[in-house]
Amino acid sequence: MKKIEKIYEGKAKILYTTEDPELLIQYFKDDATAFNAQKRGVISEKGVMNNAIAAKIFEHLKSKGIESHYMQTLNDREMLIKRVAIIPLEIIIRNRAAGSMCRSLGLSEGATLACPTIEYCYKNDGLGDPPINEYYIRALQFATDREVEHITATAFKINELLKKYFLNLKIELIDFKIEFGRINNRIILADEISPDTCRLWEIGTGNKLDKDRFRRDLGNVEEAYQEVLRRVSQ
Ligand code: UDP
Repeated sequence: MKKIEKIYEGKAKILYTTEDPELLIQYFKDDATAFNAQKRGVISEKGVMNNAIAAKIFEHLKSKGIESHYMQTLNDREMLIKRVAIIPLEIIIRNRAAGSMCRSLGLSEGATLACPTIEYCYKNDGLGDPPINEYYIRALQFATDREVEHITATAFKINELLKKYFLNLKIELIDFKIEFGRINNRIILADEISPDTCRLWEIGTGNKLDKDRFRRDLGNVEEAYQEVLRRVSQ
């Protein structure tokens, strides 16, 4: 499958059309951004590692009945995906307090949550992905009530599946962000799931194996991604 035309370039990925109008190629870059792109950098070989990690996670979720846009891995930086219309929502699920939840609520990092939480953000870089709620989603016609119900239930299901998946790899899933897309009147998981979009803490040591190492200049960024890749490849 050959790339024909670049149709989208985001912070970490590029999308290309192919000869098949229903399929795209998703290319993973090494570029990293944080704090709404105020901090920029490159994580060497991140694109290669995230392409492989995301593929493993999509394959695992597929085996558990969660459909995604992932079709197949083409090479070290590219995967073939189904073309979907991305719903402009970033869905964030948390199992422990971290990041913006700590900043906005004054919680300490790692604070226990009695149950997982969900947040909906409007996917708009210019506005800094502002948080919205179900009423906004309906009022702005991003999704219908039934679709929001489906997205919410699927996001919590993905959380349960990924918590177990990472636990087996001695990693605790602290939080993550996912996106969904529409295809033939269905809604499926899209974008990527990787250390760029999850907080992953090593069980036992509490070591961060995710983009927080880049955000906070903790060092050993590449090594952390490599470690996640090593474990998901076991
Ligand atoms: N996240 C993401 N993209 C975003 C915002 C958040 O992938 O544009 C992920 C982030 O990596 C973390 C989770 O969503 O795993 C929750 O992020 P948070 O709201 O705490 O924001 P942050 O502290 O990362 O700014």
